Amino acid sequence: MSTQEAVEIGEELRELVGDVASELWERPELGLEEHESARLLSEALEEEGFSVERGVAGLPTAFVAEYGSGEPVIGVLGEYDALPEMSQTVAARKEPVESGAPGHGCGHDLFAAGSLGGAIGAKRAIEEAGIEGTVRFFGTPAEELGVGKVYMARDGLFDDLSAAISWHPGWLASATRGSCLAVDSLHVTFEGTASHAAAVPEAGRSALDALHLLDTGIEFMREHVPDSARLHYAVTGGGGAPNVVPAEASGLYYVRAESREEVGRLTAWIEEAAEGAAMMTQTEATVDLVNSMHELLPNETLADRVEEAMASVGSVGFDEEDHAFAAELQSTLDPETVETAVAAAGLEEEVEEGLRGTALADEPVRTEGDEGVGSYSTDVGDVSWVVPTAQFRAPTWPVGTPAHSWQAVAAGGDFGRQAAVYAARVIATTAIDLLADPETLAAAREEFEERRGEREYETAMTGAPPADRSELPY
Ligand SMILES: [Zn+2]
Repeated sequence: MSTQEAVEIGEELRELVGDVASELWERPELGLEEHESARLLSEALEEEGFSVERGVAGLPTAFVAEYGSGEPVIGVLGEYDALPEMSQTVAARKEPVESGAPGHGCGHDLFAAGSLGGAIGAKRAIEEAGIEGTVRFFGTPAEELGVGKVYMARDGLFDDLSAAISWHPGWLASATRGSCLAVDSLHVTFEGTASHAAAVPEAGRSALDALHLLDTGIEFMREHVPDSARLHYAVTGGGGAPNVVPAEASGLYYVRAESREEVGRLTAWIEEAAEGAAMMTQTEATVDLVNSMHELLPNETLADRVEEAMASVGSVGFDEEDHAFAAELQSTLDPETVETAVAAAGLEEEVEEGLRGTALADEPVRTEGDEGVGSYSTDVGDVSWVVPTAQFRAPTWPVGTPAHSWQAVAAGGDFGRQAAVYAARVIATTAIDLLADPETLAAAREEFEERRGEREYETAMTGAPPADRSELPY
């Protein structure tokens, strides 16, 4: 158990977290378009006495806010981009606020508000106790596009941190100990020759044929990649009319595997397959790397501290209404979806059993040992290769709720805000704990160096970040 006392968050800061979460939820903005969200967050930090630098790493909606001076320097990460077509009211049935509009399906509204509250809570505790050190809030945009933190890490923005703290909305309060998959996104375009498909087919060369051959090649690759690797694709262009030989065809490919090195090998294989498909069809292939993210480098030392902070903070504090609405929302999910999620969470049997029949997991859960590798990807991975990074989840959604679901959006507009306040307290408590504990920071650094070994952080994203969404193929 921690000797550290949980940082209290006063009524007014609770309100600020709730208000910021509401405003972000009500005005969801897509990645690279989060101008109002970034403004709201950076202004709130400025008002609190943080100094703010906007438009960092060539990203107009990225910013860094800082308070305090000298070492240690604790970074708090915040995300605030929404997802397309996820608009949803606070109701236990699928009902968009505006059909086709974006919504916070991944809870990044709560992510930002909780992290903001955590950074401000830590700042106030520093002030009161006269603690040495610096707290820095990183406004990291476009996570859903895999764009923000990669360029920020590449530009060295996390280099002088002693530790970073991040979290993510979910359905359980627990420290994250596992890793996730690294990913490359490739946009492949084939150029052929248009011709009348019936009258003069011999004059045409089909780009769509090349795309089919590449996809077929990828299906055959599957047998020869590691079990945990994931290859998936979508056709983004395939011609317009059957009587015209398609002169252009394109697809978007995600390549995921447990390590950056493995992803690199698979990406190189797909590039060769694209060349092969082009040769077979006498077309030209162009392969563009759209984004590239690292797997998470876990840090047990920091996970232990987060867990202790969670134990000090205690339960999330949901009330009866929260539980009732969560139960209503949960009842709209397929029971098998819920059961699969609970069974796959890697929990002790007793904890797992306790979660069955529960709509809201109010109490933090202790995790032990290596959690393994989750089959998701995040640009927090890149940060974790530069600085020891602590991570946790907080229950913003009913037990078993998948991210990117309408239920997640509905919960975010309601009791999710209580979980954001909880996240703020866990972040502030962890930050204050670490600022006053150079030994733990040194141990976290040592573990980080050991896990990273000789592999210095390097990203394949060498060009300028996209200026806006129109530069991306999705
Ligand atoms: Zn997310």
